[in-house]
Amino acid sequence: MQVTFYGAVREVTGSMHLIETENDKILLDCGMFQGRRRESAEKNRILQVDPRKITNMILSHAHIDHSGRIPLLVKNGFAGRVVCTRATAQASEYLLSDSAHIQESDAEYLNYKTVRNHINHLSKSKNGGQGGRDQTAKLRKTLKKNRYQLNPETINGLIGEYGLEGVEPLYTTADAQAAIEAFEGNPYRHPVPVGHQATCTLYDAGHILGSAISIIKIQNNGRTYTVGYTGDIGRFDKPIIKDPTLDFEPEDRDIDLLIMESTYGDRLHEPVIDLKPRLQAVLNETFERGGAVLIPSFAFGRTQELLYVLHELYDEGAVPRKPIYVDSPLATNITRVFGEHPEVYDQAAHETFLQQGKNPFSFDKVTFVGSVEESMALNRDENPHVVISASGMCEAGRILHHLRFKIHNERHTVLIVGFMAAHTLGRRLLEQGLAYAESGRKGPAPIMRILNKEYPLKAQVVKLGGFSAHGDKNELRHFLKASNLNVKQIAIVHGEEDQSLSFAESLKQDGYAVTVPQTGEPMRL
Ligand SMILES: [Zn+2]
Repeated sequence: MQVTFYGAVREVTGSMHLIETENDKILLDCGMFQGRRRESAEKNRILQVDPRKITNMILSHAHIDHSGRIPLLVKNGFAGRVVCTRATAQASEYLLSDSAHIQESDAEYLNYKTVRNHINHLSKSKNGGQGGRDQTAKLRKTLKKNRYQLNPETINGLIGEYGLEGVEPLYTTADAQAAIEAFEGNPYRHPVPVGHQATCTLYDAGHILGSAISIIKIQNNGRTYTVGYTGDIGRFDKPIIKDPTLDFEPEDRDIDLLIMESTYGDRLHEPVIDLKPRLQAVLNETFERGGAVLIPSFAFGRTQELLYVLHELYDEGAVPRKPIYVDSPLATNITRVFGEHPEVYDQAAHETFLQQGKNPFSFDKVTFVGSVEESMALNRDENPHVVISASGMCEAGRILHHLRFKIHNERHTVLIVGFMAAHTLGRRLLEQGLAYAESGRKGPAPIMRILNKEYPLKAQVVKLGGFSAHGDKNELRHFLKASNLNVKQIAIVHGEEDQSLSFAESLKQDGYAVTVPQTGEPMRL
């Protein structure tokens, strides 16, 4: 039998690996590549494995870089089941629909640009004078419903009429819905068949609600092989969900090959314990200035962690009880999924909230904002409050409107709690905001471009570390050392190349047999 590493190899996104035996092809994850737009778009369209030949797939967790191409897989003939935990199946329903919606709007926007450029080109080549220019301007206007909304019917019509090359979305909302039908939610620690002579047992990975470490046992040529796949491994002692599993069942302990993540294989995080007091300080300082705290946040995971810690601070009377708004429809849906899975919470969550009949994520000061109108009213609210809104890196979504109404005012705070990739608005806010503070706020404030308009960044920018869903170098090593797994060989994936190579080096020093595979490189067992 052999294992081939197709995605998240010497990089962090696009997780996908294949186990092939004499009878089966079992896919581990089928994630989206993210990063530079054009490059990822090209990589995402190519599935290196024929979906019709895959027996079943195992999904480690619902993050899009692990699950995002499942609709493409199903669209291209995959007929097996997607084996995962129940929470992952439920969260995926919302996350994959959201992803499909993004695919559709991206395609719409690219087609809009194609048509607009073509119209501009026509008007120039015609040289039609004022009448021609007026006509062009009129035609250009029909491409939009209003300032922020495109008109796809007109755009697609003109693509056909002019014979232009349009872009199809990677998959549609309908494709995502069809994919959800293939999902099979399972409990942790319960072996399920995934092939003719293969079973998989899922263990809590402590990374995100429903995340799993998969232990796959396969009969091949009269021998039993055990392959472990860590998926993403969480931090120890973080709020809400349990720590990564250290105690595996006796039959799952002897691992021939462990496929292991290495996102922070060469880094150390701030301690989890510092989070709460730092959040408390930010809230107190901002409320004292009479300002609001804007928190760009991922809808899945980070938003619920924030609500949890805020709930604790409010219950303890550590901060003034100002209103908290969750302004992201996806975050609202995902928070409901969290509420439905108390079985995965850690002991502290049970003791602090559940045993007292409290929902950790919803209390009298929290409002889940529904309609666009409510969201717009909140934009104009100048009273002290907290807004948690998506997208996490400020690339789209309602957070943009909160920012454009508030960042020019030094009373307010933009609180950065997550990773900001290069070339995103979130990264520019973070870097330029911190640099401005370091300079003693001298000279003109940095200028931010939001929805095609410029705004001075006078609000305070604060970064809170420690909110990471991934274990750092020492936590990853702790997982290996403190767990009762006996690992023969480790393949390092899911890390930028320098992180993976450095982590491999430190594991070699710990005495493990380690490889860092190349993309598409098969490993025989
Ligand atoms: Zn993840």
